[in-house]
Amino acid sequence: MLSTVLQYIEEEHACPHCKQALTLCHAPPVHVGDGLGWGSEYLFICLNDECSLFANGWDHIANQYGHVGSYRHMQIPNSKEHYNMMVVGREAFTGSAVDVESLKRRNDDYQRRQEAIAALDHCVERGQLEPVLTVLLDESIKIDDRKKAAQLLVPLNDIACIEPIRNHTFRDGHLEQEVNLAINALLAAHFLKECPYCTELIKARANVCKHCQRQLND
Ligand SMILES: [Zn+2]
Ligand SMILES: [Zn+2]
Repeated sequence: MLSTVLQYIEEEHACPHCKQALTLCHAPPVHVGDGLGWGSEYLFICLNDECSLFANGWDHIANQYGHVGSYRHMQIPNSKEHYNMMVVGREAFTGSAVDVESLKRRNDDYQRRQEAIAALDHCVERGQLEPVLTVLLDESIKIDDRKKAAQLLVPLNDIACIEPIRNHTFRDGHLEQEVNLAINALLAAHFLKECPYCTELIKARANVCKHCQRQLND
């Protein structure tokens, strides 16, 4: 669905009455004319209040039908179908415009996640921690992909992963456990430990933390 509407964003439609670009809008649930659906969740609509169709429509409808209303020009995306749609108020459809910027942002986020997931296959050989952290720390990504990322922490052998992981709250207890085991293995491999008081990384055999100067028992 997101991909469909993103295609529509790229489409350019101009109003034949005022030549202005049409705005991509969410379709109203029902076809006002015949009670059927539009066959599309989205419509391109001329929201220009100066549009001759809209500006002259009030008089036309008052004279013709004796009630208040006008027309807005409308085109169905990905099709040649277009209509002059009757509207009863000035504000008709103005609130239904698709938020293109937020849609693009959502799509960019989606692409970024997909790229990170795909990069997991090569990140160990390339020494890339970034995609592993992107996938591991994104709660909206499938748990299987995140577990796959967790399993790469030890082979990657990069202690830079510890700080961002410690700053993250995992909703999945199993994943958190896996990640903790990986961090323990990394610390051991680097002869390091986390200070129990200030959480800074220090030498495994230190008796005093060089960061907070606290005495360590072990
Ligand atoms: Zn127009
Ligand atoms: Zn300390």
